[in-house]
Amino acid sequence: MRKVAIYGKGGIGKSTTTQNTVAGLVEMGKKVMVVGCDPKADSTRLLLGGLHQRSVLDALREEGEDVDLEDVRREGFGGILCVESGGPEPGVGCAGRGIITSINLLESLGAYDEREEIDYVFYDVLGDVVCGGFAMPMREGKAKEIYIVCSGEMMAMYAANNICKGIMKFAESGGIRLGGIICNSRKVDNEEEMVKQFAERLGARMIYFVPRDNMVQKAEINRKTVIEYDSDCEQAQHYRNLAKSIAENDRFVIPNPMPTDDLEKILMDFGLMD
Ligand code: ADP
Ligand code: MG
Repeated sequence: MRKVAIYGKGGIGKSTTTQNTVAGLVEMGKKVMVVGCDPKADSTRLLLGGLHQRSVLDALREEGEDVDLEDVRREGFGGILCVESGGPEPGVGCAGRGIITSINLLESLGAYDEREEIDYVFYDVLGDVVCGGFAMPMREGKAKEIYIVCSGEMMAMYAANNICKGIMKFAESGGIRLGGIICNSRKVDNEEEMVKQFAERLGARMIYFVPRDNMVQKAEINRKTVIEYDSDCEQAQHYRNLAKSIAENDRFVIPNPMPTDDLEKILMDFGLMD
């Protein structure tokens, strides 16, 4: 079973990209489980055709310890198994802890057992702040390969660089590696070349460039992935290509995060180019 975590700045497109990618993997005949690790609990909305009705933390609050796998795990598009960790009530408690609680519960309920025959688990993790809880999937080796969703915008790259610091820190103990940078375009000037170079400076590679496309919004309004909503459109093919790149990926590295000055220099060099 490949254990994959998707990190990146809030709003960068982690959930959209994750769900479309796993839809692509399902088309390739893979069995996939998605575990949302964002208190927003919207990591599986496009796969389920609406928000997940019960997060792990909700179920624990309502049922105490008496929770079954069926209470928190729903089947979505193409048989994808969908779980949402959920979060504490706003202002109460640490959201990161919800992730720890959820993964531990899933383990104890046998969600990762051999007999489930799951090929991939994807953790969709809110992670521009790599605090203890959000770093947990990497710290305890729950996820082995990390992909960072990034764009050519400064704050997205800044967050990606910070996430790399976290990966570096836990690479020795947890055995985790960076599988690559997914560029989710924001139509910044020279974006593809810039993010490519940024990834290379991190010692990694840009594993795919996902164009910005209104089809994503159209599908989203209809509570579907692009692959389900309009299987023949160009954007659906991009997500299939990304899924294939991840499936075939054999380059896993311990990244070299860079000093902020170097990061800003990349932005300046490419920003000033015609
Ligand atoms: P995150 O999970 O990182 O917080 P989301 O996946 O929820 O981010 O994406 C934020 C918004 O960006 C979504 O409303 C989605 O429609 C939009 N979006 C993401 N990727 C694309 C894309 N490639 N083209 C157009 N819109 C996109
Ligand atoms: Mg999200």
